[in-house]
Amino acid sequence: MRKPPPATKPTSKRVIADLKELAALTSDARGAQRVAWGPVWRKTRDWFTAKVKTELGLDTRRDGAGNLWATLPGASKDSLVIGSHLDSVPGGGWLDGCLGVLAGLEVLRREQAKGIPPLTLHLVDWADEEGARFGRSLTGSAASAGALDAHAELAHLVDRNGVKLPDALRENDVTLAGMGTARAYFDALDAAAYLELHIEQGPVLEAMKKPVGVVLGTMGVERYNLHFIGQAAHSGAAPIHLRKDAFLAAAQFALACREISVKYSGRTPRTRVVATCGVVKVEPNFVTAVPGSTEISIDLRALDGKVLGKMLADAKRASQRAAKTHLVTVAWSPLLHITPRPFDETLMKLVRASVKDVTGSAPELPSGPLHDAAEMAAIVPTAMVFAQSSPGISHTRLEDTPLPALDQSIRAFLLTVDRTIAHLARHAT
Ligand SMILES: [Zn+2]
Repeated sequence: MRKPPPATKPTSKRVIADLKELAALTSDARGAQRVAWGPVWRKTRDWFTAKVKTELGLDTRRDGAGNLWATLPGASKDSLVIGSHLDSVPGGGWLDGCLGVLAGLEVLRREQAKGIPPLTLHLVDWADEEGARFGRSLTGSAASAGALDAHAELAHLVDRNGVKLPDALRENDVTLAGMGTARAYFDALDAAAYLELHIEQGPVLEAMKKPVGVVLGTMGVERYNLHFIGQAAHSGAAPIHLRKDAFLAAAQFALACREISVKYSGRTPRTRVVATCGVVKVEPNFVTAVPGSTEISIDLRALDGKVLGKMLADAKRASQRAAKTHLVTVAWSPLLHITPRPFDETLMKLVRASVKDVTGSAPELPSGPLHDAAEMAAIVPTAMVFAQSSPGISHTRLEDTPLPALDQSIRAFLLTVDRTIAHLARHAT
C-alpha cells in the first residue's frame, strides 16, 4: 500500500492551459473542427498521444472501435475508467468533450506523482461521440457497452459528400468487424466505476447561479413522427364545420403536449420533464389551401422511466382526441427510444460531497443531452460532474464556461476522483 498521498490540492491550471492549447491547434474562425474520423481529429489525437507519452511516459492503445486508451497501472487490476471525447461538431466550442478528457489527463498526472495508485486508472477518448458526420452519436462508447450492432447500424451510413462510413473508418484503421470486439476489450479492464466531467450545454446551472452541478443521470427519450391526414380544400369554398384540417389537429396536439410536460413536471430538477414538437410539415402548404396532411414530431424526455411512459400514453390519447375533433386520422411512427439512465447513488454521494466542498453547495440536475456516460451507466456504476455553461448553449463557437466556474468544476471533479479511488480501493481485489 502506498503512503497516504501528500496534501496536494487539486488545481485546474494545467487543464485550462491544455484546453487553450488544443483550441489554438484545432479551431478556426468558425470554431473547433475536430470532427470524428477526419484529419483535424487525427491531429488532435496525435497531440494527445504525444502529451501522454512525454508527460507520463505512457503509450496509448486503441480498441477495435477506435477508442483511444491511456492506462496508469495500479496495485490492483480493478480499475476506474475516466473519459469523454476529443471530437467536436463542425464549428464547435472549446470545452464540449475535451474538458473531460483533459481533466482525466490531469488525474493521471496527479496519481503518477503520488506513486502507484491502489487501483488501475484508464483514461479514454471515446471515438465519434458527436455523430456529426454520419448521424450516429456515441459510436465508440456504445460499442464498448455492447450496445452497437455495427453492421446493421453503420454499414449504410453516408456523409454529406457521399463518403461511406466504412470507408471513413478504414482511413482510421477501424473496421465494422473490429467494432464488435470493443465490448470484450472493455470487459477485460475490470472497471469498477466510470466518471466523466462535461459542460452542461444548457442554461440550468447558470439560471441557478451555480458553477458546478451533480448529474442525476441522462433522461430517457421517446421520439415519434405523427402524421395527421384530413382533406385538402379551398380556403374560400370549404365551410369551417365541414373541414378536415390536419394542421389544426396537429396544433391542438402540440398544445396538449405542452400541458403534458407541465402536468408531469415536478418542482425539483430530478422531476423536470420536457415535451417538444420541433418539426411541422404542412401540405399542400400554400395560403389558400386547408391543410390536408400534417406531419409533426414529438420528443418527450424524463429521468423517470415510468413518468416517461405515462407522458407517452397521454400524448397518444391527446392525438386521438385532436384527430376526432378535426375529423382526421393520425398515425404514429417511432423515431428514437432511449432508456433513462439514472447514475449510481454511491458515486453520486461522492460527487455531491466534492462539489459541495469546492463550491459551497451541490445542485442536482438531470442531463437532457446524451453522453458517453449514458452508455457506461448501462454496464458499470457511473457518475458525472457538470460545469456551468454560460451562455447556456453548445455546439457553437460561442459555447463557454466562465473561468472561475471552469476552475471549480475541474477541482470538484479531481476531488471526486480522489474520493472514488479511496472508496474503490477499500473493495479492490
Ligand atoms: Zn460532449
